[in-house]
Amino acid sequence: MLPIIHHPDYDAATIGDDHRFPMRKYTLVARLLAERGYTFEQPKHAAQTALERAHSETYVRAVLTSQLDPKHARRVGFEMTPAIAARTCASVGGTELAARRALETGQAVNLAGGSHHADFEGGAGFCVFNDVAVAALSLLQEGRVDRIAVVDLDVHHGDGTARIFADDPRVFTASLHCEQNWPREKPPSNLDVGLEKGTEDEAYLAAARSLVTETLETSKPDLVFYNAGVDPHTDDRLGLLALSDQGLKARDALVAQACQDCGIPLVGVLGGGYSKDAEAVAERHTYLIEAFQKFT
Ligand SMILES: [Zn+2]
Repeated sequence: MLPIIHHPDYDAATIGDDHRFPMRKYTLVARLLAERGYTFEQPKHAAQTALERAHSETYVRAVLTSQLDPKHARRVGFEMTPAIAARTCASVGGTELAARRALETGQAVNLAGGSHHADFEGGAGFCVFNDVAVAALSLLQEGRVDRIAVVDLDVHHGDGTARIFADDPRVFTASLHCEQNWPREKPPSNLDVGLEKGTEDEAYLAAARSLVTETLETSKPDLVFYNAGVDPHTDDRLGLLALSDQGLKARDALVAQACQDCGIPLVGVLGGGYSKDAEAVAERHTYLIEAFQKFT
């Protein structure tokens, strides 16, 4: 069975259903998968020492003690409460555990994560801690891997991840995003492809295929992190691209197939998804699990 990581704390903070960040989707996606017979492994919350591999001590302490200044909290998009800190530590712990399971079994998924706008100095855009960066740096520090690639197909540019690894040759960052979308400032990843507003399945999938191929060939990674945000979907409120459900399914399958063909362990994280209909967003996130399940 595909290792799937889930923690009840992913949905622990009450921010209201009208908030643009769809907290409820984490419970919904787990429920949909449980109904289909999947079981989950529960992670530990990430340790402070692990968080400080990717973020400044000052920022980590401010989040963990709910002392983040209001201006910074506005940039993140949440008031910083103990419940928000708990959910983000669970989410980072989930990506760390999924990465370890992927190294053991080939592929694994965390049913949260993909907080790619958070950088060393702090958070932004609903991202408190950068789970992929923390997990990558933990595995590198432990000597479990030498080279890592981050394939970020969330519709938004992976700016935080790009900044964290800008001077780290061990980690290759690749981002396929909508060029006109937030964040306006897009610090360079190792490989960036910015698509025009309204891009549909065929052009998107061609771009995704060549980005994945170039990433694997150039970086020869020991492990790939895949941000499978479903916000390129045509119904997404923040996405600006025009993928269909079939397009998203084909995208997740091509990433899983490419890593399988090269024998590279792959860890998937959910990333963004902001349609009004939380049930529809949760269903789209299940495509990732279905795609990975085929290769397990
Ligand atoms: Zn996004």
